[in-house]
Amino acid sequence: MTEQFSTCRICSNSNLKEHLPITDYFGEKEVFNTAICEQCTTVYTVPRPDEENIIKYYKSNSYKSHGDKKGGIIDKLYSIAQQRNFAYKHKLINKYSFGKNLLDYGCGAGAFLNHMQTKGYKVSGVEPDADARNHIPSNIPVVSDISEHSKSKFDVITSYHVIEHVHQLMETMNALSDKLDRNGVFHMALPNYKSWDAQHYGEHWAGYDVPRHLYHFSQKSVHTLAQKTGLNIVATHPLVFDSYYVSLLSEEYRTGSKNYIRAFKNGFVSNRKAKHTGEYSSLIYILTK
Ligand SMILES: [Zn+2]
Repeated sequence: MTEQFSTCRICSNSNLKEHLPITDYFGEKEVFNTAICEQCTTVYTVPRPDEENIIKYYKSNSYKSHGDKKGGIIDKLYSIAQQRNFAYKHKLINKYSFGKNLLDYGCGAGAFLNHMQTKGYKVSGVEPDADARNHIPSNIPVVSDISEHSKSKFDVITSYHVIEHVHQLMETMNALSDKLDRNGVFHMALPNYKSWDAQHYGEHWAGYDVPRHLYHFSQKSVHTLAQKTGLNIVATHPLVFDSYYVSLLSEEYRTGSKNYIRAFKNGFVSNRKAKHTGEYSSLIYILTK
């Protein structure tokens, strides 16, 4: 079944406006409508498959979130970028928190948790997908739903490219806020549809990833989301590799072939423009209570 709604889940504005129709180029080329809240600027995939029906849209060999496929150049670049990304995320975590109790919400196969464990963190995960959970090393505690977690508070909560997939948006944000220690820090990464690469590729922008992405966030919409959850955004940081990876996929969606050089150029242009505008392809938001 699909879910239809006309009220903004974040700011409660009851007047969502029709927005860009977007094709699922990753999957079966089904077209999905989107709607924008003109008040907080969040874009919604609407109507959207419900929690049961969305599962089939994830069932593809190339879906990257569990990331254990090895293959072409994109996979190799992805793997190199992933290691650099882990080091960068670790550096950011260190910058904002001394605590070592870390929860990764939507931890996939646990690669990031594994990395952080080797750096001395006491790590835990939440991952709803049973296949992904089976890949997680047995010494890392992981549950399928945050409500099952016995530990009450964490110094650091991370969620990288996950919140845009979650049906129960406000409930999830509130649950994560509850699990955050009074002095804890929440690192949340999201694609940014206001980035140059998003504007450039339009409906071919891979960051839309409909219908798996239920929400398409701007910085303004994330500020409203944080405010409604009682959290403060203390900083934002770019994920500079994302513009390259997203441009590679977007080129393929737009032209049907892999234009590595053009994708590299556009990834570079997006980051260069964002140096002035702050509108990077993806952003990590640093949130506190
Ligand atoms: Zn809104």
